[in-house]
Amino acid sequence: MAEAGVNGHCDERKGDVMADRFVWALALLALLCAPLSAAAAERTVVLVMFDGFAPAMADATKTPSLDTIKKEGVWSRHLVPVYPSLSLPNHTSFVTGCWPERHGIVQNGFIDPKLGKLPETADADWVTGCESVWQAAERQGVPSAALNFWNRVSKTKGKLASIANEYKPWAELPSDEAVLTEALGLLKRSDAKRPRLIALYFRGPDHGAHVNGVTSPQALAEVRNADRIVGKLMGVLKALPADREGTLIVGTDHGMMKVDQVINLPRIITRHSIRARDAGDGGSAYLYLDPGESVERVEEALSGYSHAFTVHRTGRYPAPYARLGTSKRLGDLMLVVKPPYYLAGTDSFPSYAYWLGMSWLWSDIFTPDFGGLAVSHGYDSSIEAMHGIFYAWGAGAAKGKEVTRIENIDVHPTVMHLLGLQPGNPVDGKVAADVLAAPEPLPTPAR
Ligand SMILES: [Zn+2]
Repeated sequence: MAEAGVNGHCDERKGDVMADRFVWALALLALLCAPLSAAAAERTVVLVMFDGFAPAMADATKTPSLDTIKKEGVWSRHLVPVYPSLSLPNHTSFVTGCWPERHGIVQNGFIDPKLGKLPETADADWVTGCESVWQAAERQGVPSAALNFWNRVSKTKGKLASIANEYKPWAELPSDEAVLTEALGLLKRSDAKRPRLIALYFRGPDHGAHVNGVTSPQALAEVRNADRIVGKLMGVLKALPADREGTLIVGTDHGMMKVDQVINLPRIITRHSIRARDAGDGGSAYLYLDPGESVERVEEALSGYSHAFTVHRTGRYPAPYARLGTSKRLGDLMLVVKPPYYLAGTDSFPSYAYWLGMSWLWSDIFTPDFGGLAVSHGYDSSIEAMHGIFYAWGAGAAKGKEVTRIENIDVHPTVMHLLGLQPGNPVDGKVAADVLAAPEPLPTPAR
């Protein structure tokens, strides 16, 4: 009996324990399910890039939509570009979350030993590694759209997102207005295959600023247009049905700063009888030496221009430039320009300039009196004027917060995190936790 009693007692206790466990299992299940059901709304992320949007531009004109994000979302004056702070390397890092050493887009102009000079009509086949946000999302079963981003299509693989506008030369790409119209249409779709990631590239204030100045009327008109685009996207995201929610991420590739004196690289090459090809311009250029040319001799010859640019041997780059890697695309020597100098390479001058003696008669460095370029970029990423705007608004984004800085390569993992997906493989950036809403506290289980 005693034994039975003990057993009975034990069984009773076992039953209590089982019941307790059952209750706790239910509570745990409820706990696990609570955040799931709370987050059950299907999320769409719209990732926008405006080319060449410096924070100083938004300071100089009215931007009501971006101002709303400052209050309702999160923003920063320091979206820090990868080096060189040029468009193509930064477009590629923005969407892949990788340093140029992995994605291979090391300048707006470079020479690949097999493919030759990067053409204006470059496609995603030039990218040597890493996945764009749309590739990583599609791989994980999430339909995506990529409009006007240069690496949305590959000549060999076709479209890399379910929705991507077709391969075309730069000048023939759809207008910003056409991209906006298509994006608004995609957001209003209600079919099962509608994209949950929509990546949009807009020309932005880049051109107006280059020619006329950072806060010129032309650049500021483009900034107000960008703000209008942001407002339209916010309006449609706000109006999504109750079972859907949206996040808007707005960034840029680089800032802008005033430039004046031109480094005439073709003249310098002639003066020192350097046997090499050159590629790149603005803030940096690469030299690809002819067989037999001495890297030491060229390095020595160019050291006399250290007031305007420094010379670095491939494989020996100092830390700020080390993430360019060591690939053949970097040639033998890199020239790193100090602002306000602007380097003009072989491809920078119109052909008539050669007839006018540009490469043998003009000065090595001169102040142009023909205009054409007021401000530029491409310089060391630690220079604050190279930093660009960043805004995030909507589901999952922090509210009413300014963050000190965000790295360009962190945008990709942050977007993937907001979509509840893994980042591309491989990836160098990390989720920018600063720009995310704090996780909601779990409900206390009922006793
Ligand atoms: Zn750009």
